Amino acid sequence: MGDKNLFEEAARLIKQSRKTIVLTGAGISTESGIPDFRSPGRGLWEKLDPMEVLSTGVLYNFPEEFYKVGFKILSSMRNAEPNEAHYILSEMEKEGIIFGVITQNIDNLHQKAGSKNVFEVHGNTREGSCLRCGKKVSFEILEEKVNKKQIPPCCDDCNGVLRPDVVLFGDPMPYAFDLALKEVKSSDLLIVIGSSLTVSPVNFLPDMVRHLIIINATETPYDYKADVVIREKASYALGNIWDIIKFQ
Ligand code: NAD
Repeated sequence: MGDKNLFEEAARLIKQSRKTIVLTGAGISTESGIPDFRSPGRGLWEKLDPMEVLSTGVLYNFPEEFYKVGFKILSSMRNAEPNEAHYILSEMEKEGIIFGVITQNIDNLHQKAGSKNVFEVHGNTREGSCLRCGKKVSFEILEEKVNKKQIPPCCDDCNGVLRPDVVLFGDPMPYAFDLALKEVKSSDLLIVIGSSLTVSPVNFLPDMVRHLIIINATETPYDYKADVVIREKASYALGNIWDIIKFQ
């Protein structure tokens, strides 16, 4: 099937679906300048192992190390702006074409683009909390303390180590994942955008729906089971599909 037919087939599946939900990964934000983990030649994985630097093992045992390396990666995502793909998804939600977005991303770009129904299954870079007393703080507080060389940053109340509220390797999944699971189970169609589908348990979601569309620049382990696989950039693919849905 050529690209044009793939876009048409994807648009047809979306139009006929009773409930469609989208799952996004780091690949939707590369066009906003945030490197993903696994793109060949460009992904962060090629430079360092996120499973090590962004893990609870490092945070708990070597908090200074975590703040010198892992935290910088998280902090660097916060100034990015949404791209066309984020805006199209927000428009699709507004028009009732999709129910919402489950995202593995922690960059806040879906919300910045106007999406309302966002399930952040790997947490966010808006907040942090104290490992000892659980007190919530804004991410800016973490950044301020780190900039003032308070490494690791500590809680003003109990002096416990503060952590960002992102899901690190080794952390349990948040409640948002239970909610996302429920929505996927009641959906007919899942559209995966920009995810290598190699991080568990999120990569179990494609098994739970009747219909599956995958938009990803490179192969994924679920391509064999998808109704449509589009190996293009997210903004280009979504732009074409959205034009067909709007104008046909
Ligand atoms: P991943 O890095 O494992 O996979 C990203 C996939 O996107 C790759 O297969 C790549 O080929 C594809 N891709 C890259 N640019 C693309 C584009 N413009 N259009 C379409 N596809 C594109 O990402 P993942 O599956 O999300 O898993 C990595 C984990 O890292 C997640 O838990 C995520 O939270 C985290 N992470 C988040 C961010 C972010 O918030 N922006 C960035 C890096 C990593």
